[in-house]
Amino acid sequence: NEKTPTQTDSLENRRAKIIQQAQEYYYQKPMNLVRGWQQYLIADDGRVYLDAINNVALIGHSHPKIVEAAVQQLKKLNTNARFLYEDNIDYAERLLAYFPESLQVIFYTCTGSEANDLALRLARAYTNENDVLVIDGEYHGNTTAVDEISTCLMDNPTASKSVRPFTHPLMQPNTFRGKYNSETPDVATLYAQDADEKIAFIQSQGRGVAAFISESLLGSGGGVEMPKGYLQKVYESVHKAGGVCIADEVQIGFGRMGSHFWGFQKEGVLPDIVTLGKPMGNGHPVSAVITTHAIAEAYRKKYTYFNTFAGSPVSSQIASTVLTVIESEKLQENAAAVGAFLKQELEKLIYEFESVGAVYGHALYLGVDLVKDKKSRTPDSQKALWVSETMKQNGIIIYPTGDYYNILKIKPPMCFTKENARFLVETLRTILSKMED
Ligand code: PMP
Repeated sequence: NEKTPTQTDSLENRRAKIIQQAQEYYYQKPMNLVRGWQQYLIADDGRVYLDAINNVALIGHSHPKIVEAAVQQLKKLNTNARFLYEDNIDYAERLLAYFPESLQVIFYTCTGSEANDLALRLARAYTNENDVLVIDGEYHGNTTAVDEISTCLMDNPTASKSVRPFTHPLMQPNTFRGKYNSETPDVATLYAQDADEKIAFIQSQGRGVAAFISESLLGSGGGVEMPKGYLQKVYESVHKAGGVCIADEVQIGFGRMGSHFWGFQKEGVLPDIVTLGKPMGNGHPVSAVITTHAIAEAYRKKYTYFNTFAGSPVSSQIASTVLTVIESEKLQENAAAVGAFLKQELEKLIYEFESVGAVYGHALYLGVDLVKDKKSRTPDSQKALWVSETMKQNGIIIYPTGDYYNILKIKPPMCFTKENARFLVETLRTILSKMED
């Protein structure tokens, strides 16, 4: 029987036969991972890799406290969202203490895409409008509704051609690559004007704004920090037009910003809806939408919401343990200290290599923009792929992102140490030297 896997068939061949090719994976010659531990991944040949990419495993792979929480709860009770149990109430109370006073209602979901999908429904129900402002090049998930508002070319190569009439991408406020750079006076205002123009256009068509959705540090864009004050200006314009602001914290939330628990706090804005995912369960699929009583109420008057697995007792115990460990192991403080050190060391490479154009990001969410040469700033995806493959051969996992696939993204588990950071930068330095020779 051709379908029966044989001992001699490689894992890659078995995978290629049955798992849809649209579901891509990292690396041309992937390693077969069999174990994760803290900030390390271990392959079947015994090789240990430093994991500099898994922000999902926020508190580290295979954390014993997570294992214990899951096992104990699985032994006791795991059921669906329509029953009353304490676990998801306890967790919600605990999580909401991390939010401002206005954001005190939670909807449980299972993935970042579901959270953003529901956030759009909430915004549309509340405003009775449909149009959405997004930041160009950003990704918000894989459901039909969020795909329609995602313009990240890496995840959807035809995105710029298929933008829906109700989706309005704002020029990405990237001061290295964008229309206005860091030397332009009042760069935040110039970029924010784009939002005013798009809002005016929507209104000129007799429609209104439902929402503006964005990350507070552009994760899909490679960790780009927006010019100071930009987000505040856009939020102000959107609110004035009657729209709501959605902060997508799926990638960057839960302490990774070091200085702040949430990205939106770092930018000094107050969203109406916040979406959470990836690291919330350290790899276990649990996510959430946090909003105001008024928005939740407007939605309830029109719809109900049911999501079988969302906020189950096991998910709640795991998510709660993630918070316990962030607090007890001081991982937010570690993200601030190690992240600042790592960024400072990476920035030295800008002066050492023609191929390093810029270093983006904050704390433990960083990006290294690789270019053909400094003058042209032409993005160089070939270099980024080669560097990533060679880093892997040297025991470090990082990978390219961004519309041009030329930005090395670095977003490790938050237990990453200064020693790990030194090793990463030294290895990258050696590889860049070899490449430029
Ligand atoms: N929002 C952002 C910013 C993301 O990066 C992602 C996933 N990469 C999502 C939402 C979707 O999350 P999920 O894959 O869990 O559905």
